[in-house]
Amino acid sequence: MPQFILAIDQGTTSTRAMLFDANGHIVGMCQKELQLYYPNNGWVEQNPEDIWADTQFVCRGVLQQHSVAPADIACIGITNQRETTIVWDRKTGEAVTNAIVWQDRRTADMCKELKDKGHEATVTAKTGLLLDPYFSGTKLRWILDNVKGARMKAEHGDLAFGTVDCFLLWRLTGGKSHATDITNASRTMLFNIIEQKWDDELLALLQIPKKLLPEVRDNASDFGTATADFIGAPVPVTGMAGDQQAALFGQACFHPGMVKSTYGTGCFALMNIGGEFKPSHNKMLTTVAYRLKGEIHYAIEGAIFVAGAAIQWLRDGLGIIKSAADTEKIAQSVNDNGGVYMVPAFTGLGAPYWEPHARAAVTGLTRGATSAHLVRAGLEAQGYQTADLMQAMADDAGYPMSEIRVDGGMVKNGWVCQFIADITSTPVLRPVVTETTALGAAYLAGLQAGLFKSLDDISAKWQCEQRFSPQMPSSEREQLYDGWKAAVKQVLA
Ligand code: ADP
Repeated sequence: MPQFILAIDQGTTSTRAMLFDANGHIVGMCQKELQLYYPNNGWVEQNPEDIWADTQFVCRGVLQQHSVAPADIACIGITNQRETTIVWDRKTGEAVTNAIVWQDRRTADMCKELKDKGHEATVTAKTGLLLDPYFSGTKLRWILDNVKGARMKAEHGDLAFGTVDCFLLWRLTGGKSHATDITNASRTMLFNIIEQKWDDELLALLQIPKKLLPEVRDNASDFGTATADFIGAPVPVTGMAGDQQAALFGQACFHPGMVKSTYGTGCFALMNIGGEFKPSHNKMLTTVAYRLKGEIHYAIEGAIFVAGAAIQWLRDGLGIIKSAADTEKIAQSVNDNGGVYMVPAFTGLGAPYWEPHARAAVTGLTRGATSAHLVRAGLEAQGYQTADLMQAMADDAGYPMSEIRVDGGMVKNGWVCQFIADITSTPVLRPVVTETTALGAAYLAGLQAGLFKSLDDISAKWQCEQRFSPQMPSSEREQLYDGWKAAVKQVLA
């Protein structure tokens, strides 16, 4: 019996292959950096051939490094940077132009025009998204409008569109399978997440021919079989999900009210809200969490632009710490924040404020303030920003979150985890496997392949490494949070 799951984690800056055993434990990992291109102001591209070559390289690499035979791989799961847009020729398999990466802002004017014409409400009501260049729809239209001959070929059905999951699946299956999963589809701005189908009105609005689009499947599904030349034996692809949704799944957040929050350079939080679509009243996104055997779960999603990046600034911009790991001890070396707050709006403020023109500030400095207070303020900011997001999510969902499952490079810092628990007044759980994105893809693939029996089975396999329970008295919490709110007010002013 094949016993390993191969997870492909195709991210913005790197491609990784991870091997998991049937208990969800990591067996091995192989990674390769991915080149980004910036051909114009605000443009961000990748070469699809690099994405494909790197995927082959890391998958073959991880098997070799750990002497695992291809026949021992039961299934493949794919997770990916979301929204990045690729269009390729169905006959040759070649992309008509570079992939347009989610960060790319070239369609800002197109979005503004659509907004000015009053289309945002329709987009939000059908997709749960905002009318923003971030999502695939306007990127796809840009390709059809600007790559010579693309629109005509698309109308003849000669081209295929896909996000990175879909492109990889096509390549893995030798062009046999043109399919995506519902979480990736939900980020295109073309997919109606209530009716769960490509939306004719949105397609007409963006002038996208339906013939371009992939079939949309459940997250655990028989997507197709990777041909033998990929790793040496044919292997079924049985799980796919966009990276943030995969992380939610990898954190086993299967019940409404459960939240995963990832603290890397920025922070992404998703809250499972169950089977009922709820539009956000707090400028968050509503998105598909996952769909299994036709049963859908939605999530509310919020992003903080600067999390770990604030710590990088303390290190590289100010030079007051040597490494990010030092911050834990430094924060503990002072009794409190000394009234010092850092609002890390270096690139504007994200949810729930959405003020792109805001800039960062440190407030409350007195002659008694030291670099330790500043470091502490940088860490505390993660707690306050999380509290802001959680309040908005809870308000949208109509009930509070039950617990926060954290991951990302920053949560190695136990002080930060405790502070998040204290200031949100919610238990924070740090898992044994913090590679939750790849783990989520592996869980999905393994579920379909029969290695995991059910969601309960997966929940039982998910292991908590440390639980941080809220300990701060409510008066102290309120006082600190009021201080943060006042600091944000100054920044917004
Ligand atoms: P990404 O995936 O976005 O590149 P990671 O998940 O690898 O990011 O996390 C790296 C970030 O976490 C960096 O911004 C770094 O400053 C921060 N970080 C890493 N270790 C710590 C720590 N012990 N305390 C605080 N911040 C940390």
